[in-house]
Amino acid sequence: MNESSSSAARPHYRGRFAPSPTGPLHFGSLVAAVGSYLEARTRGGEWLVRIEDLDPPRVVPGAADDILRALEACGMHWDAPIVYQSAREGAYHAALHELKQRGLVYPCACSRREIADSAVSGIEGHVYPGTCRAGLPAGKTARALRLDTRGAAIEFTDALQGSVRQNVEFAIGDFVVYRADHVFAYQLAVVVDDAEQGITDIVRGADLLDSTPRQIFLQRLLGLPQVRYMHLPAAVNENGEKLSKQTLAPPIDADHPVPALVAALHFLGQALPPDLNAARTDEIWKWAIANWGVERIPRSRQRPV
Ligand code: GLU
Repeated sequence: MNESSSSAARPHYRGRFAPSPTGPLHFGSLVAAVGSYLEARTRGGEWLVRIEDLDPPRVVPGAADDILRALEACGMHWDAPIVYQSAREGAYHAALHELKQRGLVYPCACSRREIADSAVSGIEGHVYPGTCRAGLPAGKTARALRLDTRGAAIEFTDALQGSVRQNVEFAIGDFVVYRADHVFAYQLAVVVDDAEQGITDIVRGADLLDSTPRQIFLQRLLGLPQVRYMHLPAAVNENGEKLSKQTLAPPIDADHPVPALVAALHFLGQALPPDLNAARTDEIWKWAIANWGVERIPRSRQRPV
């Protein structure tokens, strides 16, 4: 990482788009890309792209390049070299080591079944009951590392969704920071990367709103700078399912990106004048940057496409 993108030189606004290369860019991700890009551009800030390819079973070969090509076809330009999470294990390791040294993480031997048998439900499935917090049960071997969430009552104000409160201990439980399959958890990696890249503002889909308190908690534990958040409505299909590879969301057509770009702006409440519906991407950006209005973005957690 070069000097200008390190946290030492924190700019007044640096945003980012952080797709997981699990498939080509689809409309749901394009909305996050467009929202984060317009916020950065209209605030005279920088916009970075980070490929979150940390989870080998989910990474699809070629998907990262497809996503980058689609962004370029849409006329979205990033201001620093692309960061790949797969190349940053050392940084995650260092953060985990620090948490370990301070006694904030502990090894856990529980299987999914064991957790399911003794846990209550939280907002994302089972709340880890804390079985291994006081030490591994005799004869058991560690599978994953969990973060002790006691005292994690988090409150923050989201630029769109307003005041958010979550007691991570009760809503989520001690969550995994290093997985049984030897993969660093998204929650840890994202916090380490956003700090290292000097990100000041995160604009992303509200499907991640419930993760944010975990990330703020980790930022605080690691002494990392606080970030401002704006969670855009997540694009859902007619069944209320988030658009994703799993729900077979169609890819953005990099040869004809304008309709998707226009649709993303509409989705974010920015109604282009009809004569721009067939414009070139640079004309669309010129209009969008001049007319971007956060107050017109619907303040819901999800919206049908
Ligand atoms: N990589 C995550 C995703 O594609 C987004 C992470 C983030 O924006 O914090 O859903």
